[in-house]
Amino acid sequence: MAKPFASSADLGEKEQTLEVLADGVYALTAEGDPNVGAIEGEDFLVCFEALATPVAAREWLTRLREHTGKPIRYLVLSHYHAVRVLGASAFGADVIVTHDKTRELIAERGEQDWASEYARMPRLFKEPESIPGLTWPTATFSDTFTIDLGGDRGDLVLAYCGRGHTEGDLVAWLPRHRIMFAGDLVESQAALYTGDAFHREWSAGTLDRVASFGAETLVGGRGAVARGKAGVEAAIAQTRDFLRVMLREVGAAGTLKEAFRNAHRALEPRYGSWPIFEHCLPFNVSRLWDELHGVERPRVWTPERDREVWGELQS
Ligand SMILES: [Zn+2]
Repeated sequence: MAKPFASSADLGEKEQTLEVLADGVYALTAEGDPNVGAIEGEDFLVCFEALATPVAAREWLTRLREHTGKPIRYLVLSHYHAVRVLGASAFGADVIVTHDKTRELIAERGEQDWASEYARMPRLFKEPESIPGLTWPTATFSDTFTIDLGGDRGDLVLAYCGRGHTEGDLVAWLPRHRIMFAGDLVESQAALYTGDAFHREWSAGTLDRVASFGAETLVGGRGAVARGKAGVEAAIAQTRDFLRVMLREVGAAGTLKEAFRNAHRALEPRYGSWPIFEHCLPFNVSRLWDELHGVERPRVWTPERDREVWGELQS
C-alpha cells in the first residue's frame, strides 16, 4: 500500500506542554511537533521560534501570558524553515534576529519552502490565511549575538556552530542556567530532517561545537526536553548517530533507490517509531545523495519536487 505523502495524513492534535526550565525560562514541547521557547529579561521577553502561522503562535503566547506580561523585544529564529518562522507577526517583536545566512535563504527560497512545508505538514498551518507574507529578520549576525537580559539575569548568547540542519542555524545559550535552545541542530527522541542539510559538517564539527557548551538542559527542535548532562549528551549522540548511519548507508549505495532502502533498513529499528521518520527519510536521502555527489548547496524543494522524490522512493 502506498504511504500517504509526508505528514499529510497526520491530522491528530498533539498535546502541548509548557515547562518552566528555570526562573523565567520557558519551553513548549508538543510530542514531536516543533518546539518553541521564551526567556525573560528584566523588563522584556525574548521568544525563540515562531511556529507556522500567527494563529498557532497566538495560542502559544496565550499560555506564555499566564506566566509573564513583559513586552516581547526579541524574536529569535533558529533557521529559515516555514514551520518555525511564518507565525512571527503575532509576536509584535521590536527585533527579529537570525543568522546572516538565514536572511539569504529566505530571499533565495523562502517562497518555495513555504509552499513545500505547507503541503508536507498541513496540520501545523493553523489558519494559513493569517500569514501576512514571508518573515524577514531585522538584525542578523555571522558569529555571535549577545543579549544582556538586565538585572542579574546574565546574557543570552546566540551562536553559529557551523553548517548543519541548514546553512544558517543558530543556537541560543543561557550560560547562567546552562540551558540551550538548539533548534533543529539537535533532536531528542524525534527523527531528523536533513533535506537542506550539510551532513558531513553537521555530524562532525558542528555538533562538536554544540556539545562544547556543556549544556545541562537542552531544548531540541522537536521532542522532549533533554535534562542533565547525560540527557543532553544522549540527545546529541542520537543526532550524530542518525547522521552517521545515513552517511554510511548512502555512501555505500550504488543507486538512489538502494541508498533509500539501505538507510531505511539501518535506521528503522532505532528510529522508525519516532515522529516524522517516514515523512523525512526520502527527502533526507535525496539531499545526502546530492551532497555525496558534489552538489554543494541543497537544491530548492518545491511541492512538485517533493512529490517526485516521494513517488520515486517512498511508494
Ligand atoms: Zn528545520
